[in-house]
Amino acid sequence: MNPVIQLSPDRIPRRWYNLAADLPKGLPPPLGPDGKPVRPEQLAPVFPMNIVEQEVSTKRWIDIPEEVINALLKWRPTPLRRCFALEKHLGTPAHIYVKDESVSPAGSHKSNTAVAQAFYNREFGIRKLTTETGAGQWGSALSHACNQFGLTCKVFMVRVSFDQKPFRKTMMQVWGGECVASPSRETAAGRAVLAANPDSPGSLGIAISEAVEAAVSDTSGGTRYALGSVLNHVCLHQTVIGQEAQEQLALAGEKGADVVIGCAGGGSNFAGIAFPFIRDKINGANITIIPVEPASCPTLTRTPYTYDHGDIARMTPLMPMHSLGHTFVPSPIHAGGLRYHGMAPTVSCAHAQGLLSPLALDQLECYAAAVTWARVEGNIPAPETSHALAAVIREAKKAKEEGKARVILACYSGHGLMDLVGYQRYLAGELKDVAMDDAAIAKCLDQIKDHPRPVLG
Ligand SMILES: *Cc1c(COP(=O)(O)O)cnc(C)c1O
Repeated sequence: MNPVIQLSPDRIPRRWYNLAADLPKGLPPPLGPDGKPVRPEQLAPVFPMNIVEQEVSTKRWIDIPEEVINALLKWRPTPLRRCFALEKHLGTPAHIYVKDESVSPAGSHKSNTAVAQAFYNREFGIRKLTTETGAGQWGSALSHACNQFGLTCKVFMVRVSFDQKPFRKTMMQVWGGECVASPSRETAAGRAVLAANPDSPGSLGIAISEAVEAAVSDTSGGTRYALGSVLNHVCLHQTVIGQEAQEQLALAGEKGADVVIGCAGGGSNFAGIAFPFIRDKINGANITIIPVEPASCPTLTRTPYTYDHGDIARMTPLMPMHSLGHTFVPSPIHAGGLRYHGMAPTVSCAHAQGLLSPLALDQLECYAAAVTWARVEGNIPAPETSHALAAVIREAKKAKEEGKARVILACYSGHGLMDLVGYQRYLAGELKDVAMDDAAIAKCLDQIKDHPRPVLG
């Protein structure tokens, strides 16, 4: 059998799937400074109204505009790969499939939402987007998308990644984007952090504050902010991944998936592969759905479902999510894209409703899985993606022990060709595990203990 299951271009999904329509106990709203649900107008300085409408939509299916479909067609539908070599290597009866999102221009799933966000901003008359980036994947995806749709792009990149991954900045520049290290001296939020700690390694929470400030302080009104994960509309845009995968599994002769896996930073690639399957699960299918996070930044596995801000300067509304607290600065592990203090409200809410089985893994196990993968299957995964692959290997071994020919599906969120410094350090034996002890978690959670808790219907 051919290991690559291709979907023809005319089968590209024409609608995004909105999980908010189907969550049995609803999705609690974000709260404004007055403690009341945020009104859409309050978000208008930050996002264009067409995106705000998507953010609050409870419609199950949302049509993808023709121009966005045309942009997506440059690399979609993406291949679904049956991993025969890994199955053989592990001696497992499981059928392992990965959905390969590394084939996009920027090398990860992030391009899926980048082109949609650039399109909606341009439709609304916006000329410039600001954003944050952790490992640099989102900054490069948005730089590419802005270039496609004629917008300028400014990226605040978390300091440690800026220093570790200089070529990401070059990618952004090639597509015409501008990239500065965060915390920077360009914003009040950045200067405040530097005043307290001149050597701050930065964090996504800090970079978000800077990017939002840079957008709302442009008095011409021509600048808005774009976020690469977490928010409902971002997760929505990623659902093309899971919809295609469902169709490709059917083409491969499978009845469906028994286990669905995605690594989870802010939650968007996990949402993309998982939400269409969560819909099936809500409708009675027996599927184990596993978001995988790093043990050094464990939100779903070790924090309560609460309200918290998305950024350190508390410029964002209070969002209903699992969170380590908005001032959390993670240890500088290499899986830069998984270092966010919170988790997408839709993903958090699905977990609060008992639909998910989250897993936290240490980085050494993930790097070992990535190297096994590269030697057996070929491509070099992003360090974030390696978390999903380590979970795949665990599930495949479990299937072997139990003698079950389970169908395991994972999202291969991106390639690791820009992350070779991490591999270099791993191969040199320089990396260690940096799990958080209970005292460290308790200290983080203490600062948000007075925040309200979301109420499910
Ligand atoms: C950004 C990124 C992630 C983490 O972000 P999510 O929003 O959780 O998907 C995972 N993998 C890759 C390759 C990324 O670029």
